[in-house]
Amino acid sequence: MIELLFPKKCCYCKKSGYNICPNCYQFIIDKTKSYQKCPKCHKPSYNGFTHSSCLPFALDGIHVLYQYSSITKALLSEYKYKFIKELETPIINLFLEGLENNDLLNYWKRDKFCLMAVPSFKTKNNWRGFDSLKEISKIIGQKTGLNLNDNSLTKVKWTRQQAGLSKKERKKNIKDAYQITCKEAIKNVLIVDDVYTTGSTLEQIAKLFKKNNSSKVWGLTLAG
Ligand SMILES: [Zn+2]
Ligand SMILES: [Zn+2]
Repeated sequence: MIELLFPKKCCYCKKSGYNICPNCYQFIIDKTKSYQKCPKCHKPSYNGFTHSSCLPFALDGIHVLYQYSSITKALLSEYKYKFIKELETPIINLFLEGLENNDLLNYWKRDKFCLMAVPSFKTKNNWRGFDSLKEISKIIGQKTGLNLNDNSLTKVKWTRQQAGLSKKERKKNIKDAYQITCKEAIKNVLIVDDVYTTGSTLEQIAKLFKKNNSSKVWGLTLAG
């Protein structure tokens, strides 16, 4: 019945019958692979490693799978703001396709990186009924063999959406927004987020883990 009232349409090209059509999905994979940059200086860097000349820096690297093109933008905004839960599967599959045959995945697995999502603020979870990024990370963990650790980080403050804010405002917005809830240090941490823009959120979280004696902290995002 719901389908009749609201027929499915591709989030980008509006072709009916799909939440994302096979063409748009394949276009993301074939044509919008991301170029990797150092999270500190934003200049090109192999696989997204922080240049050794840019260390010390809280983040040891950020790996961005796809460019933040108009298609990925449409996909993520329909998923996040129109609550189209069926888009979760294509989003997870895009993560998995991007990680397939990826050297970094082997490195993260070998060095036992703990996978966790950037947490949402509690009321937001309750309102939506689920924490989308947490669900996505859980399945990425199951499918890739990375260990999931989803109870070591929490969000303790409501924040405005980072998009549309200046770098300075973003920093202020997320100041003291996250807290580590585990007692022991986690050796290596891999934080999953949907979009990488200025990296303020991931940097803030990385700083917390480094203060808590983590050795390496990486970020992984779908787009950026
Ligand atoms: Zn389409
Ligand atoms: Zn650099």
